[in-house]
Amino acid sequence: MQRYNSFSEELKRVFGCKVQRLSVDAGFTCPNRDGSVATGGCIFCGGRGSGSYGILEGAAVAAQMAHSKEVMVRKYKATSFLAYFQSFSNTYAPVEKLRQLYDEALSVPDVVGLIVGTRPDCLPEETLDLLQGYAERSYFWLELGLQSHLDRTLAAIGRGHDLASFNRALAGCQKRGIRVCAHVILGLPGESREEMLAGAEFLNAAGVDGVKLHLLHVMRGTRLAEEYQAGRVPMLDRDGYVGLVCDFLERLDPNIVVHRLTGDGNRADLIAPLWSLKKFEVLNCIDHELERRGTRQGQKQGLGTRD
Ligand code: SF4
Repeated sequence: MQRYNSFSEELKRVFGCKVQRLSVDAGFTCPNRDGSVATGGCIFCGGRGSGSYGILEGAAVAAQMAHSKEVMVRKYKATSFLAYFQSFSNTYAPVEKLRQLYDEALSVPDVVGLIVGTRPDCLPEETLDLLQGYAERSYFWLELGLQSHLDRTLAAIGRGHDLASFNRALAGCQKRGIRVCAHVILGLPGESREEMLAGAEFLNAAGVDGVKLHLLHVMRGTRLAEEYQAGRVPMLDRDGYVGLVCDFLERLDPNIVVHRLTGDGNRADLIAPLWSLKKFEVLNCIDHELERRGTRQGQKQGLGTRD
């Protein structure tokens, strides 16, 4: 039995079977790269968005999904799928264009729902209204990049939005019954352990429905890589990360669905930390550590950041 409220368990509860995500690159860009907000992007972003690899690039949405689906069926004997609009800011287009892309994804056989990843500043009212429709008639999650609850960090990593922007987007979703999964990075430079753990308390109070925890990855060609190579970015080691994730989970409301506990950096572009490539080992260590402590998600909710 898992000691946290995992997304895979949520999918089994809802659909009664394993459901796999099919990543889609629908050709979006991002206001933090195209000049609308900034041109440099977030310091950790490698120019391919938040990372969808192994996709049939340049193909239409349905063709990409058919290709990935074939692989999933062969590898995992999967039968049900979620369309995952992952690369860049997947609400950064006019509503009619978004509708056409999301409908195309939902029309692929055996696709039972939709996950859309975006930035808080790409959710005007009409887009939120559109998403509300999908949330009402299909299985739907909006993944919202937060990364840190500290404005100081958001400025330092070049996010191009502040916490107030996240809070506004979240309120717009909550008003419409759209479930939100917040993305948070652990190990960002300049944040203390207490500040990172306070992120769990922030998510509890904000009332998000899900969280995706990422480990800070240094990818080739990013501004973070330059900082790292200059010796200015301390990295967590594996045991440090495992301990931090367990501390975070202990403080996280048990109703929040945990979509991910570590990153998924592309092997060829990853500079550090290389131990993160052994993803299943990291996940096993987290399970073992929670078991060793005899704790679970939410066990220390509301107890602050110090043990
Ligand atoms: S918001 Fe996402 S796509 Fe845009 S620069 Fe940051 S990580 Fe890259």
